[in-house]
Amino acid sequence: MSQLSVKEWTDQVIQQDQIDKYLINGEDFIDEEQIYNDLNTNKAPDKQQIRRIIQKSLEIERLSPAETAALINVQDEEIWEEMYDAALEVKQKVYDNRIVFFAPLYLSNLCVNNCAYCGFRKENKDEKRRILSDEEIVQETEVMVREGHKRMIAVWGEHPLSDVDYMVDSMKTIYSVERDAPYGPGTGSIRRININAAPMSISDLRKLWEVGVGTYQVFQETYHKPTYRKMHPPETIKGNYRWRLYALHRAMEAGIDDVATGALFGLYDWRFEVMSLLYHAIDLERQFNIGPHTISFPRLMHAAGSEVAENSPYLVSDDELKKIITVLRLAVPYTGLIITARENPEIRREMINVGITQTDASTRIGIGGYSEMLKKWSRFQEKDSNQKEDEQQFILGDTRRLDEVIRELAEKDIITSFCTAGYRCGRTGEKIMGLLCNCVEGKFCKLNAILTYREYLDDYASEETRKLGYKVLEKELNELDNNEFFQERPEMMKEFYDYYERVSNGERDLFI
Ligand code: SAM
Ligand code: SF4
Repeated sequence: MSQLSVKEWTDQVIQQDQIDKYLINGEDFIDEEQIYNDLNTNKAPDKQQIRRIIQKSLEIERLSPAETAALINVQDEEIWEEMYDAALEVKQKVYDNRIVFFAPLYLSNLCVNNCAYCGFRKENKDEKRRILSDEEIVQETEVMVREGHKRMIAVWGEHPLSDVDYMVDSMKTIYSVERDAPYGPGTGSIRRININAAPMSISDLRKLWEVGVGTYQVFQETYHKPTYRKMHPPETIKGNYRWRLYALHRAMEAGIDDVATGALFGLYDWRFEVMSLLYHAIDLERQFNIGPHTISFPRLMHAAGSEVAENSPYLVSDDELKKIITVLRLAVPYTGLIITARENPEIRREMINVGITQTDASTRIGIGGYSEMLKKWSRFQEKDSNQKEDEQQFILGDTRRLDEVIRELAEKDIITSFCTAGYRCGRTGEKIMGLLCNCVEGKFCKLNAILTYREYLDDYASEETRKLGYKVLEKELNELDNNEFFQERPEMMKEFYDYYERVSNGERDLFI
């Protein structure tokens, strides 16, 4: 753990040369004038133009800023309907009918920053501050594993006590936890830790890479510089816009080639943020040949004492959220799209229909929230979520358990995946980009989704969910037999069927 004072630590965090090296002629990739120009010059797109653009996404090609601006500017609701359908079609082509599940673990709410919208901000004196000990991390992880989770996103505030060394230690602890499954023969563990953490230097990011970090996620919050300045006091570390803007570039350089971006929707005009997310993807492609692994679009939620969270003039309606997701799905067809338990169950259902690929369930975001949940396990229901405003960053919209959400998806023939194979067998970064763009990754993932779904159903599912899940599996297995891609790969399929049988007989963690 760091022995530095907050001031000393702050001074050493930002390394200007690790910003400047990515600039072009001293400029970053967010050119406000250009973005407004894109939006203004593509104002009245006609039907034929939009259909041509949709066709390009269906061929899994990333759209240009002009094309994306045209989609954003569509006024005709009938054309939006066509775009919603196309968005789902793109998702099915690249990612098939599966949803990947994860759960967040909040390890500390200590924070030196003062973001106007966040319950963890330094000046929120009502927040009960806490950083998890090693023992508490084990307890929290055990609950998540017992619930059936395999993929975690670890989250920290920014503070010297939760610096990179603390992160590395906590990751090692999380990976070491194993717990017998409640029903089947499996022993559960977290197989992939993604992280959502403050921007870091290349050398710190390399330390995370060395202990097996999955995806590194940093949200820019808002790409609009004047709004960014208002939300993040300039004397704080987070006040440095460009240090944050190039966080993912540095991660790529450190070897972490699954990076994830996002914007906190509600701080500024959603149209501007969507265009900026696209420019971010384009710059990553330009400098590293790899776009973002996922994009997130958290909406601003109620947070203790935050004026902006309640009264921002840019709060995004449900209908606008659907449009945001649809445009992103079409504009960056290869990227994963995440919707979280910030949103209520109805919204989550609706957004899955326009191309979401990942979501969470059983989520607790209070520090130590999962252990609390375990104490009240029998009372852990939708209406008794035990959320505490003074211990968490914001209030969740969906606190249902994993089993219930998986069951709901199974009713719609959607398969849940806990696959972590891509990262562990080198299908990340540039390699996965190529596979996604050629719609091949979705096929590998289908096989691994089947294997991990079977594990989940046998080890963790309630009887009702298991019954429904087996039906989904039967349908999936039939589809494999009739699909040309799989028919042309008899060796791979021989291996898959062997694995499937072994998993059915109790072996675990086999992947293609
Ligand atoms: N402290 C790190 C940072 O800011 O990058 C990482 C953790 S922070 C807890 C994770 C994310 O939570 C932020 O990037 C922000 O987008 C989101 N967040 C903060 N306040 C929120 C609110 N009121 N509603 C929804 N999301 C919020
Ligand atoms: Fe701290 Fe992150 Fe919250 Fe800002 S968003 S106050 S940096 S935890």
